Amino acid sequence: MTGDRRRALPAVGTLLELDAVRALLTQAPRELVTDVVRSVVDDARHRLVDTPDNVDWATLITERLAQRRTSSLRPVINATGVVLHTNLGRAPLARAALDAMRDVASGFSNLEYDIDSGERGSRHRHCADLLCELTGADDAMVVNNCAAALVLALNTVADGRDAVISRGELVEIGGSFRVPDIMSKSGVRLVEVGTTNRTHLDDYRRALTAESGAIVSVHRSNFAVEGFVASVSATALAPLAVETGVPLLYDFGSGLMLDLSAWGLTGEPTARDAVRSGAALVMMSGDKLLGGPQAGIIVGRADMMDALRRNPLARALRVDKLTLSALEATLMLYREPERAVREIPALAMLTASVESLVARAEVLLMELQSRGITTAIVETEATVGGGAFPTARIPSIALALNGASASKVQARLREAPVPVVGRITNGRVLLDLRGVLPDTEPLLLSAIASALT
Ligand SMILES: *Cc1c(COP(=O)(O)O)cnc(C)c1O
Repeated sequence: MTGDRRRALPAVGTLLELDAVRALLTQAPRELVTDVVRSVVDDARHRLVDTPDNVDWATLITERLAQRRTSSLRPVINATGVVLHTNLGRAPLARAALDAMRDVASGFSNLEYDIDSGERGSRHRHCADLLCELTGADDAMVVNNCAAALVLALNTVADGRDAVISRGELVEIGGSFRVPDIMSKSGVRLVEVGTTNRTHLDDYRRALTAESGAIVSVHRSNFAVEGFVASVSATALAPLAVETGVPLLYDFGSGLMLDLSAWGLTGEPTARDAVRSGAALVMMSGDKLLGGPQAGIIVGRADMMDALRRNPLARALRVDKLTLSALEATLMLYREPERAVREIPALAMLTASVESLVARAEVLLMELQSRGITTAIVETEATVGGGAFPTARIPSIALALNGASASKVQARLREAPVPVVGRITNGRVLLDLRGVLPDTEPLLLSAIASALT
């Protein structure tokens, strides 16, 4: 029976002669079109249930080709209300960072060249002085992400020796990042102290021996513990580290550079606070609250940083010129804090007033109304995301879409040229404006319009 159907399938060569398929050859290379035709026929051979006679081959082929020519990685609009959404790429970059990347990427650069001496330079020098200036640390270096920063720091400081950490800090940060796994892959022996809910300074003291290579403090960035709890801050651990000569490594995660308590965001340490704690090395992400590119930043003692830079792993974990240029341009903005809040998108989105969101929502609502589409403006709560300020609820504003089926509307929003990702609450699709970049609003409008008509 399948034999009959197979025989009825057109030959690849025949399909290539269809007018509509020949027209595709003016848009795409022959090899690609042929490959697409072949894959459509193959699929028909394996899956088609109806008789091939009524298949619209030209349309199937045109659609498949369009799919193949779309980038896999592409922009989307974040209307989820989770501002630093890890699945949606965390922090969008500031204009200054994009400009710096383009300048450096489009030609040659002094990535590893000392312009003053005309000799070979080190890529690790870029961003280092600026990071010291902004955090108060003695030295700094940049690697691929915060996980890499932790691996490099642990492996350099405590390879083959004990790393002492509280059981309350053996956390999972996201998908594939679990502190105990990262620690053992770094070559250290994990020594757990305290309990899930309570750890005291004495617990650390008792665990320190001649075998101890590091005390590790990991900020619980994506959850909060309440009730009968006790933990030892990095600030409280630092004197013990000094007394015993076992260096304290402090992973504080978020990369927060400015105090955002004026906007109701409290409870996360800033990078300056983390350095002031007295830890030997402080680790953070570049693409969370810092609002820069994906990167891991290590700041701290100069002697240790030298050892980190000499570790062969530093070569494997190093960052490229694009990251360094974007990070440096982002960091420069922090010299003027008001400018940073205005121009770094993550900070601008987190600090935008509710009134400004209402004003934007009203313009969108009227624009949609003029196209015959009714929406409503509703109050919502946004979150920071990216594993930072886990309990913060930021007052926000969303457009509520009424459609026959919320999940269908949501699916159609994802089919837009720039897909829109929202959320469903009480059977309605809500598009939260806090994470929507103002200059993407025209795209948002046309996606809503085509999803609802
Ligand atoms: C987010 C986070 C990490 C992982 O950072 P990446 O840059 O994504 O590798 C590590 N530690 C803490 C405390 C974090 O919050």
